[in-house]
Amino acid sequence: MKLLDGVHLSGIIRREIAIRVMEHCSNQRRSPHLAAILVGNNPASQAYVRNKIKACEEVGFGSTLIKKPETTSEQEVLELIAELNQSKEIDGYIVQLPLPRHIDEEKINLAIDPIKDVDGFHPNNFGRMALGLPALKPATPKGIMMLLERYQIETDGKHCVVLGRSNIVGTPISLLMSKKTKPGNATVTIAHSRTHDLAALCRSADMIIAALGIPKFLKADMVKDGAVIIDVGINKIADETHPKGYRLVGDVDFESVKEKCSAITPVPGGVGPMTITALLDNTWETYAKTHSINL
Ligand code: NDP
Repeated sequence: MKLLDGVHLSGIIRREIAIRVMEHCSNQRRSPHLAAILVGNNPASQAYVRNKIKACEEVGFGSTLIKKPETTSEQEVLELIAELNQSKEIDGYIVQLPLPRHIDEEKINLAIDPIKDVDGFHPNNFGRMALGLPALKPATPKGIMMLLERYQIETDGKHCVVLGRSNIVGTPISLLMSKKTKPGNATVTIAHSRTHDLAALCRSADMIIAALGIPKFLKADMVKDGAVIIDVGINKIADETHPKGYRLVGDVDFESVKEKCSAITPVPGGVGPMTITALLDNTWETYAKTHSINL
């Protein structure tokens, strides 16, 4: 079994990005700059944003964290977005989800300038991606594709079952895996909570991408010998032996599935770090475009 190590691979790709920054940026030309808007006090969101900002420092990007209280109005967030859209110093930005209930996520998403949309959620980018045109791709699916490419996982003609159809993971990774690309060219089945006989469907898969949000959902008896397993899930489960009182597990029962599959991503340390690496790569992409640097 091959461990698809997202921490190790992220280290390699981030060093490559850091080298590009050193080569192209100087006193005359500022480095790429990522901004993040964080509304409210969701602990998971705070941790995600912290990691993104830390990753910017690692590769030599500038970063700005805009923290707003839970009570911030939709209008205030829209005004912030308008400022970031105009800013010549910010290449890309994200609005960390979920937003407080009184803020309409769709409205916020539509207000983001697609050129700076490094999360790739704007319909303009999403639509372009669906059509196979150059686009800023959502970070998690892009991170998975980078992982498959770098580990040279053969996907051509394989049956790939995607568990979950969310707009940020399941749907976009299904699109990318079915494209005429390498990696890609897979025969994709997208499954969800209404899918019948999921276990049998999974057993027919050469590759499973699990993005449901259910701890250890995918068990060994649902996996074909030699399948490739990509675990997107990040779930907290109680663990008294852990200093924090909990630990993170994926949507895959790693211990049993690892004995059957040919390759698997761990949680933590698989898709999570690759997601942040893909976000950095998107930020570099927007920067390179505005500074006419050939990619
Ligand atoms: P959502 O809750 O938005 O979507 C979950 C999907 O799983 C839905 O399509 C749902 O089906 C489907 N589903 C739920 N229960 C079942 C079931 N019993 N059988 C089959 N399908 C089911 O989740 P996200 O896509 O946002 O996230 C999924 C997981 O990935 C979470 O653990 C999340 O924390 C993690 N994540 C990790 C990231 C990373 O960087 N590693 C980034 C983003 C998310 P239906 O549509 O019918 O409701």
